[in-house]
Amino acid sequence: MQRTKIKEILQNDKCDYQVNVKGWVRSFRNNQFIALNDGSCIGNLQIVIGLDADEQLIKGINNGASISVDGMVIASQGKGQKVEIKADSVTILGECDPEKFPLQLKNRPSLEYLREIAHLRFRTNTFGAVFRVRHTLAYAIHKFFNDRGFVYLHTPIVTASDAEGAGEMFKVSTLPFDNPPRNEDGTINFKEDFFGRATNLTVSGQLEAELGAMAFSEVYTFGPTFRAENSNTARHLAEFWMIEPEVAFNDIYDNMDLAEDLLKFVISYALEHNREDLDFLATRLADEEKQKPMNERSELGLIEKLEFVLNNKFERITYTEAIDILIDSPAYKKKKFQYDVKWGIDMQSEHERYLVEKHFKKPVIVTGYPKEIKAFYMRQNDDGKTVAAMDILAPGIGEIVGGSQREERLDKLTQRMEEMHIPTEEMYWYLDTRRFGGVPHAGFGLGFERMVLFVTGMTNIRDVIPFPRTPKNAEF
Ligand code: ATP
Ligand code: MN
Repeated sequence: MQRTKIKEILQNDKCDYQVNVKGWVRSFRNNQFIALNDGSCIGNLQIVIGLDADEQLIKGINNGASISVDGMVIASQGKGQKVEIKADSVTILGECDPEKFPLQLKNRPSLEYLREIAHLRFRTNTFGAVFRVRHTLAYAIHKFFNDRGFVYLHTPIVTASDAEGAGEMFKVSTLPFDNPPRNEDGTINFKEDFFGRATNLTVSGQLEAELGAMAFSEVYTFGPTFRAENSNTARHLAEFWMIEPEVAFNDIYDNMDLAEDLLKFVISYALEHNREDLDFLATRLADEEKQKPMNERSELGLIEKLEFVLNNKFERITYTEAIDILIDSPAYKKKKFQYDVKWGIDMQSEHERYLVEKHFKKPVIVTGYPKEIKAFYMRQNDDGKTVAAMDILAPGIGEIVGGSQREERLDKLTQRMEEMHIPTEEMYWYLDTRRFGGVPHAGFGLGFERMVLFVTGMTNIRDVIPFPRTPKNAEF
């Protein structure tokens, strides 16, 4: 008999039909009631086995074991579920030694502990919900762009360019570490390397995406990016996924609208399609909040927060206004900030979070940053001091989106590159976009895991990516 997914059985109230289900045992009570989960939804299906069941079989039905069940879907006698399965036959597919099984679902294992047990992590309610939501968000992102006629462009993972000029890149090489070929001056001779030059893992697909935008008008990338920054925070990964739309003819205001529309669409899509998972995560978060002192608890629950974001326009302010607000703030006057505030600083997470969580209490788009703290490709404003950059700051997260209108004027762009010591010759292929039919254009990068953090209410970015890569950690 063909397998039916548990989600399908729980979703409709139909009874009195024969099914086969397969999944993993979540619990087994009174040698009679199995809670079975197959990952299709958060809910378990109750399987009732006959009191005359084989003793050997009963011994095999342990937490974590996988089983196949044939039986009849019937209206449930017990509380907590509408339907259950009266089993005709149960087969053990994969045993699970109860002595060695580390997951006792009754006393809730910590998130940190689960990070170390890769094969069980996905089987918990919390991570099941998180990764189903992550899937939905990825799908919604593709849907959003597809519905608007964007072309999904696959930009390279191995690259010779450093998009941000920040130098926090992982090297890609096949040269021997212990004895690399050298030039006469002692430096490594990358001409002998695999690509005949020094190459890295990409930190962003933007520069390549700009080439696509100059032909398709609107493109986006959605792929892995790598940053060898040694920032061991709850918001940074060494390997993360980024969504980067790039749109010809858009200015900074169109760019803000696009980013706000994208975030709102994706959130509403998840609310509509993953409600059960989000309700579970909301309860989890509420429990976690109860552990905190009163004044640190958030005012809104997870669902209310998401609905609030959907129903309110993002605040839009300039960098200069943001700095003024911070300097005027009680937090600044009482010296509560660890880092100083003055015009020209790269705002720290504490500043960004003050703006969104304490001052505006909603997502904020900050524009017009000092050119010194932003990348070379951002369009220079007429004041000579600022660039048409935009960061979106989200409650609980800080920066979730970073973007800009791009400098389309060749002379201004090359001048800025020279000032910042970015080799214009090597970047000829990028500058060509400004030489042959260049147009004003804009784009941004949305960190996918930060989006997942925001929607799931999780607090550590390691808990929203299946296999986190962070400094000193690349297990599994
Ligand atoms: P931050 O100041 O938080 O380090 P950034 O200014 O370096 O961010 P951008 O270079 O603008 O970030 O990258 C675009 C987006 O990618 C960010 O808004 C963020 O959502 C995400 N992002 C950046 N670095 C990381 C990282 N190490 N791990 C996960 N997401 C990241
Ligand atoms: Mn960074």
